[in-house]
Amino acid sequence: MQYLSGEYWKTFDIWKNVEKSEWENWKWQLANRLTDLEDVLKVFNLNKEEIETFRRTSSIFHFGSTPYYISLIKDLNDRNNSIRKQIFPLYEEIDERIQSYGKLDPFLEDEMSPVEGLTHRYPDRVLFRATNFCSVYCRHCMRKRMFLEDERARTKQEYDRMFEYIRENKEIREVLLSGGDPLTLPNKKLEYILKNLYKIDHIDIIRIGSRELVVNPYRFFDEELLNLFDRYDKVWLVTHFNHPDEITNITRKAVKNILSTGTPVLNQTVLLKGINDDEKTIENLMRDLLRVKIKPYYLFFCDPTKGVVHFRTPLDRGIEILEYLRGRLSGLGIPIYAVDLENGLGKVPLSPNYLLDYSDGIATFRNYEGKIVRMQVEFSNLDDILTEEGKRRVL
Ligand SMILES: *Cc1c(COP(=O)(O)O)cnc(C)c1O
Ligand code: SF4
Repeated sequence: MQYLSGEYWKTFDIWKNVEKSEWENWKWQLANRLTDLEDVLKVFNLNKEEIETFRRTSSIFHFGSTPYYISLIKDLNDRNNSIRKQIFPLYEEIDERIQSYGKLDPFLEDEMSPVEGLTHRYPDRVLFRATNFCSVYCRHCMRKRMFLEDERARTKQEYDRMFEYIRENKEIREVLLSGGDPLTLPNKKLEYILKNLYKIDHIDIIRIGSRELVVNPYRFFDEELLNLFDRYDKVWLVTHFNHPDEITNITRKAVKNILSTGTPVLNQTVLLKGINDDEKTIENLMRDLLRVKIKPYYLFFCDPTKGVVHFRTPLDRGIEILEYLRGRLSGLGIPIYAVDLENGLGKVPLSPNYLLDYSDGIATFRNYEGKIVRMQVEFSNLDDILTEEGKRRVL
């Protein structure tokens, strides 16, 4: 967790004349995103090779960041900084020797789409891609294919077709608003979506997947948005923190605002090589999330998306990390480790194995310290007594 004090951004040359009322305004953050090499050179010192790499890679996969997110980088010259690595285009991303192992749409989200913009994989939930714009383009994004297209929100007509499908399919209980980042949409457009989903009686939950809390927390100081959350009280927010440096005193205040509207806040982390793939970093991240009252939900094995392959860890890295967390960290802070199966076959939770043997009503467990414990877990006589016949005999 980082503490940002006063008008801390004024220590950066590029933002030294930015007023508090500007910096803390989410629209200013969006309007003043850094989007190209020229912007980047105002903040970072790059050598010739880095400049060339930046140019080549970002001409394929866009670059973009809010000033706030960049201001969280503790040392601008540190190439290993975890925030820098999440936004900085590197050659690995377009190196075919690496990326040919990936696919642009490994989960067939576009193919398994009954109406453009919707992915209906599980019977009771539908993924609703509201826009393909994000205020930060994460290098590890699983929907990196959308960086290749023009940035745009969908039209009202497209939304209307999506609502109609949801209205007609009564088994859908939850709509997962995603993108891109749906909270980069203007409030009016967001309200249009919420209002229409709200009218569909069989929808219980509207889950908003957004990274704005990480990259532009000032979004949640916008009274209009908080008002929407208050009125449309089916909303849950799922955010995407990957590293403890991303959590600040501003985050804490923003979460407080969100919680005051009755909206729960959960987090999904992606396990990323060289960024957070070690026990200590994940432990600190989960602790900091709890401190600001965000519930860790998923820890994902990095997806096999083209452009992201170099961030993948061994599959069992996540299992080892969970093993380390158990017993050391509040159970509230332990996420579900999961891998998404290719071809849209769904997510699979993975966990250390604590049940070593189980037969004849006796189980052998391994506890968090590695102690082996045998325990009788079923009692056959008890079953007998609990039958109707057994009860009568007692009476
Ligand atoms: C991940 C995902 C969901 C949500 O899954 P949960 O386990 O409920 O978080 C729904 N639809 C699609 C297409 C997904 O990829
Ligand atoms: S904010 Fe989410 S959707 Fe947007 S680039 Fe980052 S990971 Fe991808």
